Amino acid sequence: MYDLIVIGGGIAGLAFALKGAEEGKEVLILEKNTAPTDASIRNFGMVLPLGMPKGSALNRAIRSRDIWLNYAKQANFWINPCGMIMAAHHDDEMDAMEEFHHTVSLPPHQTRLLNADQTKAMSPGINARGLRGALFSKNEVLINPQQALTKLTQHLSTFDNVRMQYQTLVTHIESSDSNAKVITNQGNHTGQQVVCCPGHQFASLFQLNEEVAPSICKLQMLRTLKQKQNWALGPMISTGLSMLHYPAFENISALDSVKKRVEQTHPELIQNGIHILAAQHQTGEITLGDSHEYGKEPSPFINQHINKLILDYAKQVLSLPDWELKEQWIGIYSKAKSSHVLWEQPEDNVFLITGLGGTGMSTSFAIAEEWFQAHVSH
Ligand SMILES: Cc1cc2nc3c(=O)[nH]c(=O)nc-3n(C[C@H](O)[C@H](O)[C@H](O)COP(=O)(O)OP(=O)(O)OC[C@H]3O[C@@H](n4cnc5c(N)ncnc54)[C@H](O)[C@@H]3O)c2cc1C
Repeated sequence: MYDLIVIGGGIAGLAFALKGAEEGKEVLILEKNTAPTDASIRNFGMVLPLGMPKGSALNRAIRSRDIWLNYAKQANFWINPCGMIMAAHHDDEMDAMEEFHHTVSLPPHQTRLLNADQTKAMSPGINARGLRGALFSKNEVLINPQQALTKLTQHLSTFDNVRMQYQTLVTHIESSDSNAKVITNQGNHTGQQVVCCPGHQFASLFQLNEEVAPSICKLQMLRTLKQKQNWALGPMISTGLSMLHYPAFENISALDSVKKRVEQTHPELIQNGIHILAAQHQTGEITLGDSHEYGKEPSPFINQHINKLILDYAKQVLSLPDWELKEQWIGIYSKAKSSHVLWEQPEDNVFLITGLGGTGMSTSFAIAEEWFQAHVSH
């Protein structure tokens, strides 16, 4: 009998398994693939307090940031506390950033406003044409998700109290008063508690009511070749459009003008949930995105028109020496309806953690820590 069985080897599952391992619990982690291949390795790797609404989401992102910095040392992976620049190329965007900075951005936020020259000096990758200035946020850290997940998985394997069983599909869970039995295609296991972190594939394990079930979202992403001569992007970049996307900016009144203007000039950006983010990992390549398309059965295909919209707008706001693409992909996440996470207890001793939306890399460690505080005796 295990103290804890974790289902899913993405960032959420790893966060729970690592915390359990550190607490000295007997942990089993089950993952259907040989390694994580879903949202947790398809993302930007941005740990992003700036986008989080005040309260638990923001606090969890700040706490998770510190945990990422610790794990980077322990598990030996690349991390860059580079912060994020949000570039304004229109007066209305600068107005909205100023309003955010003066009304919302209290600690733990750490923002400052930059004029156009300061922005360019800090961030050579921002297009100077039409640049009004920027909001700089110091809290953000960047990891390379593929490398970090590999290293975290290896780090987990160094604990004597952890068993890792990959290529194992969980088909269902039977709960009882005192424990829960996990049925897999490779045998069954019993745990005192089971935490399921199946990402967007929650429906294969749980039937959730329509009101509770997270939405499914498909995103499109692109990556350039390594920039030549060690050209450096500097802080990760977001743009004025990102304010329409992040809940932290929800109540900024100056954003009404931004939205109206973009609806008139670039309606397809709004229709396809496109905002521009750019990040450079230690590889020198630039990861660019993204679009958001909601629907239960997302098409598996990359829509080239959407990628063209992303690239065309990216070229207006960014200035990269080399735009040649190395790869393009889609990612899928589940997004909780009323919070940044769906944290449910569907049955005795069984928990479901999903619906992390675009925030799972930013909040998972803190969520796991809080779950242990609430549900595990020490
Ligand atoms: C394109 C894109 C960009 C993003 N950018 C960012 C970002 O920069 N910052 C940020 O904070 N967040 C970002 N996100 C969100 C973040 O990636 C997700 O919130 C997070 O990865 C979700 O992690 P997870 O562990 O819940 O799910 P997943 O990564 O989907 O992992 C779930 C795992 O469970 C396994 N599994 C499922 N069902 C079973 C089963 N029955 N049996 C065994 N195993 C099973 C799957 O194989 C999978 O490995 C982005 C997401 C996408 C798609």
